[in-house]
Amino acid sequence: MSLIVQKFGGTSVADVECLRNVAKIVTNAKKNGNKVVVVVSAQGETTDDLEKKAFEINEKPSKREMDVLLSSGEQISVSLLAMAIERLGFSVISLTGWQAGFKTEPNHCNARIKKIDTSRLEHEMDLNKIVIVAGFQGIDQFGDITTLGRGGSDTSAVALAAALNADLCQIYTDVDGIYTADPNLVKNAIKLDSISFDEMLELTTLGAQVLHSRSVEMAKRYNVNLEVLSSFENIPGTKIKEKISMEKLLVRGITKDDDTSRIALLNVPNRPGFAYQIFSLMGKYDVNVDVILQSIGRGEAKDVSFTVPTSQMKLAVEVLEKNTDAIGTDKIQVTDSISKVSIVGAGMHTNPGVAAKMFEALYDAEINIQMISTSDIKISVLIDQKYSDRALNALHEAFFE
Ligand code: ADP
Ligand code: ASP
Ligand code: MG
Repeated sequence: MSLIVQKFGGTSVADVECLRNVAKIVTNAKKNGNKVVVVVSAQGETTDDLEKKAFEINEKPSKREMDVLLSSGEQISVSLLAMAIERLGFSVISLTGWQAGFKTEPNHCNARIKKIDTSRLEHEMDLNKIVIVAGFQGIDQFGDITTLGRGGSDTSAVALAAALNADLCQIYTDVDGIYTADPNLVKNAIKLDSISFDEMLELTTLGAQVLHSRSVEMAKRYNVNLEVLSSFENIPGTKIKEKISMEKLLVRGITKDDDTSRIALLNVPNRPGFAYQIFSLMGKYDVNVDVILQSIGRGEAKDVSFTVPTSQMKLAVEVLEKNTDAIGTDKIQVTDSISKVSIVGAGMHTNPGVAAKMFEALYDAEINIQMISTSDIKISVLIDQKYSDRALNALHEAFFE
């Protein structure tokens, strides 16, 4: 008998028909003799709608109250799915995150899982029940509700699979696997049979929201047998594994992140210590700095630019404006319509031609590169956001078609 954790995202549980479809997938796995634990997200756009409601009431709601509100979406779906499964004559129980034993850090809206006390869950499984768990949520040491960050139900599922030592963790979604690029943006995207943890981690960190990046991190750490597949079509999906013995593909995937803003500090004194001042300030306020570029000094002055998530841009600028003495300049330029477009592949570090090919494809598509950042496994460029879809397609054509 195998233990399977199945996770269903928002579109997969959006309405009555979808919930009945999911109930079938779950009960089929049970009928095949498996122990089944299910993690679900909020229905459709519920979380977005709840967020909107919050901001209508208060433009700066506290994170604690946001968590109380947002976690309600998942509670609706677990109960409805349990009812759909009851109707098929199976023994089932729904549990909230805290009933299922998810203990987290107290950082609201982006809490990390500390541990999962699986005793209740195992008790229910011993009673031969299908257990449905609300994703995305837990409880901290003060007894307060926390959520794991947008898209976090994937992480709930993988964490549960690791804690229960499950044989398989299946992430059911609205696409039938991982593609070389988002199939909703790149028509010719190609489905992958498998992808390595490292490549998947890089893709998700660089903007591919098909999986929550912390779920991939966790699957790698605990060696969870992970698969992404469609809840609407009964066909094999994509396996995410430690090592893949595939053809020597240099580039495995292409992705973009539109949640990118660039901050440029002009005429920073060309003396030691200023980079330290700027980035320690950003660190102090938990601003996530990404690509950094410093110009060659022009005598007394140099320019320092860097990117931050657009959601943190206001905070970053506020902090910099309050500290112009320490950072040595009050000339701050901000652009929020930037996109970071990246190519990812474990094979590219041994092949210098990859970068040239990427830049050529962008040149042919008449897209100007503003900044470049590279690592062993990826090359990212910053470009004007209005060209990001064109860039994805041009790069896909250059590397895969
Ligand atoms: P769920 O609600 O099931 O969690 P998400 O919307 O979070 O689903 O993730 C699925 C979406 O991820 C797809 O609809 C697709 O647009 C997007 N996506 C981005 N990059 C990729 C990729 N490389 N392969 C497949 N899907 C991708
Ligand atoms: N419902 C949450 C969100 O929309 C969590 C998830 O779907 O994974 O972000
Ligand atoms: Mg998701």
